[in-house]
Amino acid sequence: MNHITHWIDGKPFVGEAQRHGRVFNPATGEQTGEVDFATGAEVDAAVAAATAAFPAWRATSLAKRTTAMFALRELLNNHVGELADLVTSEHGKVKSDAAGEVARGLEVVDFACGISQLLKGEFTEHASTGVNVHSLRQPLGVVAGITPFNFPAMVPLWMFPLAIASGNTFVLKPSEKDPSASILLAELVAEAGIPNGVFNVVHGDREAVDSILVHPGIAAVSFVGSTAVARHVYETAAREGKRVQALGGAKNHMVVLPDADVADAAEAAVSAGYGSAGERCMAASVLVAVGGCGDELVERIQSRVSRLTVGPGNEDDSEMGPLVTAEHCEKVASYLGIGEAEGAKIAIDGRSHDIHGSPGGYWLGPCLIDEVTPDMRVYTDEIFGPVLCLVRVDSFDDALGLIERNGYGNGAAIFTSDGGLAQRFETEVAAGMIGINVAVPVPVSYYSFGGWNSSLFGDLHVYGPDGVKFYTRGKTVTSRWQNIGQHHASLAFPSAAAGDKVNEGRKQQ
Ligand code: NAD
Repeated sequence: MNHITHWIDGKPFVGEAQRHGRVFNPATGEQTGEVDFATGAEVDAAVAAATAAFPAWRATSLAKRTTAMFALRELLNNHVGELADLVTSEHGKVKSDAAGEVARGLEVVDFACGISQLLKGEFTEHASTGVNVHSLRQPLGVVAGITPFNFPAMVPLWMFPLAIASGNTFVLKPSEKDPSASILLAELVAEAGIPNGVFNVVHGDREAVDSILVHPGIAAVSFVGSTAVARHVYETAAREGKRVQALGGAKNHMVVLPDADVADAAEAAVSAGYGSAGERCMAASVLVAVGGCGDELVERIQSRVSRLTVGPGNEDDSEMGPLVTAEHCEKVASYLGIGEAEGAKIAIDGRSHDIHGSPGGYWLGPCLIDEVTPDMRVYTDEIFGPVLCLVRVDSFDDALGLIERNGYGNGAAIFTSDGGLAQRFETEVAAGMIGINVAVPVPVSYYSFGGWNSSLFGDLHVYGPDGVKFYTRGKTVTSRWQNIGQHHASLAFPSAAAGDKVNEGRKQQ
């Protein structure tokens, strides 16, 4: 069985862990690994390594940090298959989807390769007579990332490449459910020539997270996970004076207007609802059928789902894999009963889907719950599985209101052929990432990723320009190298105009 240890100061950290987590292959239900759980002591060791590495790393030239990023990019590119296999074996998602998540993570490394451009400050000559002003951005120190199970490669890659390219050192606490990808990432970081201690990994659960949140040596925390934990992370770390971005859960609405190409929208709903078994924070989880297009959507989704192959992620034919753990699978499936009891109608029951896999796996086929209303738990709870809820509304404005009142606000999509309504949707909808005839609008790496309301605590989004801002702090320098020795004491508040006047006065004397 695979023993998964921490990675501290450029090497595996083989301590005497008191607690462990079990890692499973979700397609078979077999335990494949055991992961060490950190206590405060291991977190201290990782922070100590990161603290020791920080002065030299932040003093490393941008040219060298850029070279390191390019080397990391090359290595990741050469290991996409290996990383994707690890993701599939512990998360369960199908190979193409796992390779896709690595590719989206790699895009952030591409962006980080431009760090010299991204860290450029501004310069103003003659702000006042003989006075120049410039701005710069500096790293924060040791920063931490805490990541969820559903993207074990991509979400860490959303964070650490920009953090370290900006001159910080990093401690990652990945999900204990699928921890192996993070260790391969750490090995590749080391192989890229990035010094020991710049990137560290501690495994664990709440105990490790809570040690990170209150650790005085950590300046900032990036978190991605469920809303309840995101709120806890935000409140605890902010109270400790840390900078925090905490991305939470989601309930993403995909609105289909009657003028849309309904066949196209149904295909998109199947991809967005059941890709990665619905375990995506940008999955479509509520389908909003406006003005009577609901029946056609249901029929088309039923027809496509009846041909959808559910099986082990490592088999080429599989389109959808298992859920991540037995408990999660059971919880997701329980929503079918909850929905029925609440008066909704099960239009597709994934419990009876034909499964091409071992009976020990955590299987649930695609599900569609029709006639859902906003007061039902299947609507208000984040189910985080292959369960699409269909809500029927009369008008575009009803759809907007539904999204507004939902409480989450990660992504929202509209399918329509009406440019005017699409434009109104973009302007008025209460969510952070919007798709127009695009069901999973995950921004490219040179924009930033983040939702609204209970999908994000904090203000800066992750990666892209916001990522650079999050991992650096600004400094503005006002300097005067002329007329030294000619200061005349004045207790008036200094201003550029006042400075000009004083200098004019001097010239006339
Ligand atoms: P989770 O909140 O259970 O776990 C996330 C991280 O927090 C893990 O590293 C875990 O070990 C740790 N953790 C769990 N419980 C904790 C606790 N009580 N105290 C402190 N730390 C704790 O989330 P998950 O189940 O791993 O991931 C799925 C969730 O993540 C979904 O809600 C999904 O929407 C969300 N997610 C959001 C985004 C986004 O960008 N908004 C992206 C991916 C996933």
